[in-house]
Amino acid sequence: MHAITCGTCATGTGTLRVLPNRTFVCPSGHQLTLQDVDLDDGHVWAVDASGVLGYVVNPAFSLEVIAEAIDDLAASGDCPDPAYAARSALDKALGGCLEFVAARRAGVVA
Ligand SMILES: [Zn+2]
Repeated sequence: MHAITCGTCATGTGTLRVLPNRTFVCPSGHQLTLQDVDLDDGHVWAVDASGVLGYVVNPAFSLEVIAEAIDDLAASGDCPDPAYAARSALDKALGGCLEFVAARRAGVVA
């Protein structure tokens, strides 16, 4: 999980921790609601076991990446350099798997 830092703090390094009222606060006291969280497409927010707000790759997106990698691996024999194409497909699958596991560890399910 990648921690989301406070955008109001001058340094931008303050991590946000969850409060009982489902809002988040940085060490300087700036508060943020989930409606204020603006993530890139393909990312979803999560809170880790210590209460820090962060984001992970949407596991549904990771599953699509893994499926594409499997298709790429199946087609690698048709490429000019099959070994390179196979390694590239496996790297893509590994990246998707690692992102999927990171999302699951953060409690996000597909
Ligand atoms: Zn702050």
